[in-house]
Amino acid sequence: MSQEVIALADRVLQIPPSPTLAVNAKAKALKAAGADILNFSVGEPDFDTPAHVCEAGKKAIDEGHTRYTAVPGIPELREAICHRFREDHGWDYTIDEIQVSCGGKHGLYNIFQAVLNPGDEVLVPAPYWVSYPPMVQLAGGVPVTVDLDEKADFDLNPDVVAAKATDRTRAIFLNSPSNPTGSVFSRKALEAVGKMALERGWLIVSDDIYETMTYMDEPLPHILDVLPELKEQTIILNGVSKSFAMTGWRIGYSAGPAHVIKAMNKIQSQSTSNPCAPAQYAALAALTGPQDFPRTMTEAFLPRRDFFVSDLESIPGVSCVNPKGAFYVFPNFSAYYGKSFKGKKIEDSVAMADYFLDEAQVASVPGAAFGADAFVRFSFATSMEVIKEGMERIKKALAALA
Ligand SMILES: *Cc1c(COP(=O)(O)O)cnc(C)c1O
Repeated sequence: MSQEVIALADRVLQIPPSPTLAVNAKAKALKAAGADILNFSVGEPDFDTPAHVCEAGKKAIDEGHTRYTAVPGIPELREAICHRFREDHGWDYTIDEIQVSCGGKHGLYNIFQAVLNPGDEVLVPAPYWVSYPPMVQLAGGVPVTVDLDEKADFDLNPDVVAAKATDRTRAIFLNSPSNPTGSVFSRKALEAVGKMALERGWLIVSDDIYETMTYMDEPLPHILDVLPELKEQTIILNGVSKSFAMTGWRIGYSAGPAHVIKAMNKIQSQSTSNPCAPAQYAALAALTGPQDFPRTMTEAFLPRRDFFVSDLESIPGVSCVNPKGAFYVFPNFSAYYGKSFKGKKIEDSVAMADYFLDEAQVASVPGAAFGADAFVRFSFATSMEVIKEGMERIKKALAALA
């Protein structure tokens, strides 16, 4: 029997491996072996970073911005972030209330490292983004899921939040528009949950990474617009990964009370130091240049969303909430659970996504990864042709189940 020499930390063992990456790895292996895989599993825009942003990154390298910067990011970029908050929302932040991090994901990581003590509970509305619960756990906290109802378009439900809250609740996640559902939280729900947070002193972590990518006529409701008095207990998480198609540049940012940002800077100073210097200059160009890029992308996504949702809804037994933002559809396939193909029973979302991959050569992400096993996530940040072909294959695969 082989015995590993190096034992692993308990904190690693409590974190599940990412099912997103597992599907991706299998899809890549099949593709490498020559299979004609249609990939709907990727969580990034199918647009290139705008040319003026790339130019700014190259220019930064040529001008020698290749050394360490201030840990929370170059002051110009933090100023530009403050400016955007003022222009886009009317919010007042100063640069000591801003941290630039190595992607939005790392900003979230810093937040929980800075505020949680062992046993602190964090409310996580589910379906949730895959990384939320592990980030809480890695900081010693306990994620507590708050189930959202598909029939209510996955809106936040204040009654369920109240039922899940305890004396140990320290924080709540808001992600609107949401990954994976594309849903937007209503003003009414935000107000009710915001009042609870005010009374009980919870930290609100508002992940606004998809805020510029909506399909609504009316403005996106935001917790700080609904209850501005929450500013002292809210951290805004945002970044350029989605809005400017800059996932590989790794620039995200957080805004919140100065003492919390200072604590997050301490964590960042002892882990990554500053985010990549040239990438900060590219992000500066993105945030200070023309702001129409996210709109151009969402205009391209809109007909794809409309086709995807109506085609999914036309399948017997399948339901799909129409996403108000982001670029994912999250259909419910649970009516097909319990059916079989060639004697193999499909019991859950992992088996369903696996079946789509094997039989339809369609890569998706099982809902279990997002804490919602009835569903499977597809990204529509891909071409209309791919979506049409993918839907044909999905319909055929579902029809083959008995
Ligand atoms: C993509 C994404 C982020 C941030 O991603 P980074 O690439 O780390 O900037 C944050 N939250 C959600 C919900 C996302 O989908």
